[in-house]
Amino acid sequence: MEKIKMTTPLVEMDGDEMTRILWKMIKDELILPFVDLKTEYYDLGLPERDKTNDQVTIDSANATKKYGVAVKCATITPNAQRMTEYNLHEMWKSPNGTIRAILDGTVFRAPIMIDAIKPVVKNWVAPITIARHAYGDVYKNTEFRIPGPGSAKLCFKGADGTEMEQTIYDFECAGVLQGQYNKDTSIRSFAHSCFKYALSTKQDLWFATKDTISKKYDHTFKDIFQEIYDNEYKTQFEEAGITYFYTLIDDAVARVIRSKGGYIWACKNYDGDVMSDMVSTAFGSLAMMTSVLVSPEGNYEYEAAHGTVTRHYYKYLAGEETSTNPMATIYAWSGALRKRGEMDKLNDLVSFADKLEVSCIQTLNDGIMTKDLVGLVEPGFKAVAVNSSDFIRAIRERLEKAL
Ligand code: NAP
Ligand code: MG
Repeated sequence: MEKIKMTTPLVEMDGDEMTRILWKMIKDELILPFVDLKTEYYDLGLPERDKTNDQVTIDSANATKKYGVAVKCATITPNAQRMTEYNLHEMWKSPNGTIRAILDGTVFRAPIMIDAIKPVVKNWVAPITIARHAYGDVYKNTEFRIPGPGSAKLCFKGADGTEMEQTIYDFECAGVLQGQYNKDTSIRSFAHSCFKYALSTKQDLWFATKDTISKKYDHTFKDIFQEIYDNEYKTQFEEAGITYFYTLIDDAVARVIRSKGGYIWACKNYDGDVMSDMVSTAFGSLAMMTSVLVSPEGNYEYEAAHGTVTRHYYKYLAGEETSTNPMATIYAWSGALRKRGEMDKLNDLVSFADKLEVSCIQTLNDGIMTKDLVGLVEPGFKAVAVNSSDFIRAIRERLEKAL
């Protein structure tokens, strides 16, 4: 078989530990034999980030802006223990944080569903995609522990001389105080990413905040979404037969649980953090989630939602057999290859990505799984646990038949 051609390179961001091992296995077994792969390679493994003073992370994000599509392996976010383990010069920031700050945008996470593993919520029959705003709010807060009685004020001095001031609370005892912010530009790009993603996946979009209580802060989110929808997306949504609706966050939670799934749920930063863990756990496992960062300019970065699976890596280094689930990392590759194919009008590449995913699902439906999934299988379905490389080899057998 002739290898499938590519015209524009993918930005390839390699990573750390067990996922770095899986990365190579996936490329060697599932991509390189079939695709004439073109990538611009950036090594985001911790040693290279340390060697380049993290410049390699910045370069990889800028390359994503240049080419439009990236695929990223999980990476270590260093802490004190990693400083010693890797003999680091500095406690480098989270690469995901750096990349998100450069690309801006929204993270979309959706579960990969299989027959043998049912969601905990029995009426969910289709995936629920969480769209998490990845900027500001409590993640960029300023907070104090108030030692005792006193007056707390919120004030703003405008560059044009505008002054605003309001008492927050006159403390009669010790307490806590927090300031947080967001920017119209970031909320707008969040809204655009959500509307574009809904159109490109033909799914309804839900958005919820607590605007009844937060009459300025959350209300601004609601108003910006509505204005952008009315002015720029309403007609396209109607043509695509999909809907946008806004509700209160508590109402949304109740509706989500009663729903069948099959829509996008847009969440502010904190809500998205919490709700994506709830939704992913209820669907099964972090290793069975797809994750993509979509920038307002239309750049895409595909990744796995889980980390570098350190515990398995130490076992691997000790020569023990490991059964780490590569699904999320394979789907990062298939997602990126499909998007590249769509952008460059390469039907063969799009169809390859589809067949790769179908082969993964067939393998799981045939009862061949990694250890983490076997425990989740419903009674009546057969499942055998295999190691990562046997699992990938089983996918390859099915992929070869499909091609
Ligand atoms: P983790 O790598 O997600 O792993 C936590 C546990 O979840 C594992 O020990 C394993 O459980 C299970 N697990 C996760 N992914 C799995 C998979 N593909 N297959 C099978 N089991 C899987 O989280 P962590 O241990 O907290 O973090 C490790 C490193 O990853 C840290 O250095 C952190 O900074 C980094 N991290 C990176 C990203 C990213 O780049 N996107 C995200 C999160 C964390 P068992 O041990 O019970 O089998
Ligand atoms: Mg979280």
